[in-house]
Amino acid sequence: MTVLVVGSVALDSVETPFGKAENVIGGSGTFFSASASHLSPVQLVGVVGDDYPMDQLEPLRKRGVDMAGLEQAKGESFRWRGRYRHDLNSAETLETRLGVFSHFSPKIPPQFRDAPFVFLANIDPRLQLDVLRQVQRPRLVACDTMNFWIESRRPDIVELIKHVDLITLNDGEARQLTDCSNLLKAARWIMERGPRMVIIKKGEHGAFLFKEKSIFFAPAYPLEDVFDPTGAGDSFAGGFMGYLARSGDLSDASFRRAVVYGSAMGSFAVEKFSVQRLLELTPTDITSRVADFRKLVAFEEEQAT
Ligand code: AMP
Repeated sequence: MTVLVVGSVALDSVETPFGKAENVIGGSGTFFSASASHLSPVQLVGVVGDDYPMDQLEPLRKRGVDMAGLEQAKGESFRWRGRYRHDLNSAETLETRLGVFSHFSPKIPPQFRDAPFVFLANIDPRLQLDVLRQVQRPRLVACDTMNFWIESRRPDIVELIKHVDLITLNDGEARQLTDCSNLLKAARWIMERGPRMVIIKKGEHGAFLFKEKSIFFAPAYPLEDVFDPTGAGDSFAGGFMGYLARSGDLSDASFRRAVVYGSAMGSFAVEKFSVQRLLELTPTDITSRVADFRKLVAFEEEQAT
């Protein structure tokens, strides 16, 4: 089954303790597509300016990402500049230039409107809501957001979450949105306002899936070298939604596996700058990393004597 994603398609400039990259392809929609396309067909909706290096999106098209919904408008592309210091868990945003995103009004192509899985990646929540008005009863709608939008558009996010099944946030964003420092309480606060499920990601400390009556936790893959954390969250979402779309199974067991696929794809994204590592992955790389997660957490309970 297909996943429709609406998100930013950006030019990122990133500084980490290990190096710098200037104007490389990035954005929530781009990372999501690069990740999810390993598992299911992807339809991408977004906008770029006339300065965007379209040839660099070719590998995504070759991976089967349908770009019929990617507009090229007059003006400057969305640009994000960020820095990570030794704590690679949190990005410091140095600059966000919305460019063509500030006048963007997403138009979902007619052939995308019945997509069974919809991911509203991190963009202006007003645009996320606009997309929901154009799609027909998806089986699962999930969304993401970030501090930038929680600060400037909180009421729109509270409206948006009334209409989604699931939201993904990192721990800082969950606390900021809900004003609850305890993550269980933060998840409860969100579930009382719409979503049946909440994923709270904690960077190198793993991710929680909260549901009404259960909690699942997956660790992050222990990597010796985290090169650039940019896009880890979007790649997590791509692995998560891509797995669900591939299996078509919305059981509890399938959601748990999806969290592990998300964690596996997030762990690949951080091994190189931009989408480089995601683009070179093979199906065996993915299945063997998923298998490593199982080994990481498997243990036997002591037998009662
Ligand atoms: P993450 O997965 O959270 O590391 O997301 C990183 C990506 O988010 C980068 O490639 C940025 O281009 C993109 N990004 C940063 N700020 C924003 C924003 N305010 N709206 C949409 N996308 C953003």
